[in-house]
Amino acid sequence: MKGGLALSDAVVIEKCDNYDIENVRERIKEGLQLLGGIEKWVKPGMTVVLKPNLLTRKSPEQAVTTHPHIVQAVAELIQKAGAKAVIVDSPGGPDSKAYLRSVYKTTGMEEVAGKTGAIVSYNPQKVELKFEGGSQFRKFTLLKTIVEADLVINLPKLKTHGLTLISCAVKNLYGTIPGLIKGEYHLNLAEIQHFSSFLIDLALCVNPALTIVDAVVGMEGEGPSAGKPKKTGMIFISENPFTLDYLAAATIGLEPEKIATVVESQKRGLCVKSMAEIDFVGTKDNHGTVPYQLPKSIKQIDFTDGLGRRIPKWLLPTIYEWLKPSLKFNSSVCTKCGICKESCPPAAITLDEIKPVVDSEKCIRCYCCQELCPKHAVEISYPWLGRILFRR
Ligand code: SF4
Ligand code: SF4
Repeated sequence: MKGGLALSDAVVIEKCDNYDIENVRERIKEGLQLLGGIEKWVKPGMTVVLKPNLLTRKSPEQAVTTHPHIVQAVAELIQKAGAKAVIVDSPGGPDSKAYLRSVYKTTGMEEVAGKTGAIVSYNPQKVELKFEGGSQFRKFTLLKTIVEADLVINLPKLKTHGLTLISCAVKNLYGTIPGLIKGEYHLNLAEIQHFSSFLIDLALCVNPALTIVDAVVGMEGEGPSAGKPKKTGMIFISENPFTLDYLAAATIGLEPEKIATVVESQKRGLCVKSMAEIDFVGTKDNHGTVPYQLPKSIKQIDFTDGLGRRIPKWLLPTIYEWLKPSLKFNSSVCTKCGICKESCPPAAITLDEIKPVVDSEKCIRCYCCQELCPKHAVEISYPWLGRILFRR
């Protein structure tokens, strides 16, 4: 991993209607060729980390994780270029080798490794890294495998997200932080603006050479894990993860400036401010808008439009307090596995005889419990005023 992003706004969009391996291979090869070919970044002898989104133990059809054929196509190119591909992620949930193995297996990564000769990393070692290029955060604890790599290739999945609205290029890099340390960061960065600023500094520190977005089938609704698969039919490729998030938001019918990470990256001159500023390489005609249903997250309620603009700023904290959602656990599907309890940054969850119980005073509304519940048993519930105002 070397610092200093080369922030070209060049973007390739490849149409890709399905995950047939021949099709995916061809699209990715063609897309990279348009940007100069994989050899532009990958040199013989390098160790190249592939960072897919492996949020949790879900099969590829559930559209929670980066499809294995995207990872396979990139791994093949890297190995062919004479480098070593290493698949790395730090999923949410229990911090154990057995769980990580089950995630790699269920998401299809073990199979990718078997087919391509890539390695899946089980190395839990972490490194504290100083990063002078951060604007607000200059020290990160990261997975050692990522820090020691010669190159990182970011392979996110396009999804909605309860906290950050979208999960794509920038948010995917949160998985470079080992295990439960992610929870500590969540705890200390409960405000969305603060968390977004952290994510931007983290992306600059991890410095992916390339980002290839799996937007063939994304996820809409209660993403990043409890939503519905949404056929989108595209793969995006660029050196610039910030501009790709702008494009991702526009693609799903969302005003990019509604996303705190986009706004922060624009402020820092890292991201385009309009679609017209994107340097589309190849043809722009491959792009289409596919509106996604958004998640129900109160943290993203926007008071800067319409009537909301007239609400005095000093009143907003009180209004947020009135509209604060609570969490409901569906005991008919909850298996009491305890994953939500283990993943809750402020330890706000206890398990009673029937189901989990949340201490709402302690809860920071990070939605990690909803994100990681394997049974989709966690629901967000709004007070009556919130339901009326925001039609939740
Ligand atoms: S709510 Fe989900 S994660 Fe929590 S105990 Fe029940 S099944 Fe497990
Ligand atoms: S209860 Fe859920 S939303 Fe609340 S802090 Fe814990 S993990 Fe986050």
